Amino acid sequence: MKKILVLEFHQETNTFNPLISPFQRFQPDCVFEGQARYEQTVKAAGAVAGGVAAIEKAGGTVIPTVFMRASSGGRAADEVFDHLCQRLEEYIKREEFDGIYAALHGATCTQTHDDACGELLAFLRARAGSRVIAASFDLHANITQKVLQNADIICGYNTYPHVDHYETGYRAGKLCMEYLAGNRYAMAAAGVAMLIPPSGYTHLNGPFRQLIEAGKAMVDKGDILDFTVFPVQPWLDIPEIKSRVVTIGKDEEKAKRCAESLAQQLFALRDAAQTPLTDVEDIITAAEENTSGKPVILADPADSPNGGCVGDSPVVAMALASRGSHLRSCMFVVDPEGVEQAFALGVGGSGQFRIGAGFTKGMPGPFCGKGTVRSLHDGYFEPKKNDAKYLGKTAVVQFGTMDILLCCQGAASGSPMIYRSFGMEPSHYDLIVVKANTSFRAPYSTISDLIYVADTPGAGASNLKLMQWERLPKGCYPFDLPEDYVPEKAELY
Ligand SMILES: [Zn+2]
Repeated sequence: MKKILVLEFHQETNTFNPLISPFQRFQPDCVFEGQARYEQTVKAAGAVAGGVAAIEKAGGTVIPTVFMRASSGGRAADEVFDHLCQRLEEYIKREEFDGIYAALHGATCTQTHDDACGELLAFLRARAGSRVIAASFDLHANITQKVLQNADIICGYNTYPHVDHYETGYRAGKLCMEYLAGNRYAMAAAGVAMLIPPSGYTHLNGPFRQLIEAGKAMVDKGDILDFTVFPVQPWLDIPEIKSRVVTIGKDEEKAKRCAESLAQQLFALRDAAQTPLTDVEDIITAAEENTSGKPVILADPADSPNGGCVGDSPVVAMALASRGSHLRSCMFVVDPEGVEQAFALGVGGSGQFRIGAGFTKGMPGPFCGKGTVRSLHDGYFEPKKNDAKYLGKTAVVQFGTMDILLCCQGAASGSPMIYRSFGMEPSHYDLIVVKANTSFRAPYSTISDLIYVADTPGAGASNLKLMQWERLPKGCYPFDLPEDYVPEKAELY
């Protein structure tokens, strides 16, 4: 019976977010091992659960190890990565095993490592020798040379918004077990020197859907067994970053040809993936003139915690205030000092606040105004009580017709529950600020279809040219790509 070490290391980093993601961000109680943690991880029905199901279905035995998972944010603390490696070293020494399955994000930086997943896979390779290493990734992974050289099997999500976590783990686990049964497949990868904003594409429609369909057709036709398109998470100011396509197949030439064909199609959608952005002022005007009875949704992906941003942008509040707008509006802003002030004032208390712009470099602000505290909360919101649904201590403060949810940390905010859980009903406002890229569209569809994506500054700006880049490689779309650029020829790994 084949034994597989299973681990998880999952965090999406945004290097423009200056806040380091500590241990507690990965699990409030810092417990990353043991039966309870394993069961909790499998129950979450993510990639680990899929990988485990495939391994067990093929008659393999799972050896659970370390499961570290955090919501998106700034670089992971070095101690997080050191702990992971130390603990894995213990398992590798202690256990007999035939292979490793690692459920990774792939766009993860630590304080020291720009390519934490590549470092981790190299660490595992040095200890696993020729034993198989299979890894699953987020669609936004940065698939580097180190990743390609140290993993035998690479599978990533093929959906955005991501809904195929389980299926992706299953693909990796299945290929891992087929490898152990003696099957040797070719893995080909082709790079594309291109960064595109995640708000500009989805597998649900448009050219990106066509691209995923083309990959599926190659699998259906039998040319390859597996493929992943990786349009890398763009807010990583690091020296090795690019989008990539990975294919796995029985035939080397076909695997290479398919990877190249998909890479060309990925490159071809670059201009279509530029999100149409609207000025905040124009969105406020549209909301003021709106007579539909439905609220206007102002999407501010530049400050999306899911995109790794802090969530401290007060830009819309400032625009509404400077215009003297009477729109009933709601938004959330990360500002721990403001939260403390609200708690000190108590419910019903009023005071002069300075809100936001406390962390993100170059963020305009703060917003200043006299606010009244409406309510105070512990910061957990529905439906799940976990870190992804936790804002720290939270206060709802009213500034004229504007309600601001002040909180201590950002969280996945694509659902109206981030407001409802704190007594703010989104459908009762004229203007709802949603700090998310794409995830909000389905949950908000019952409230309004009047959606405008704002052209705002922030660590996750869709207009990548707004960011202060210092370390990017030369020759990358949309910055300084040579006019005659073509995607790389595929290489075998
Ligand atoms: Zn992603």
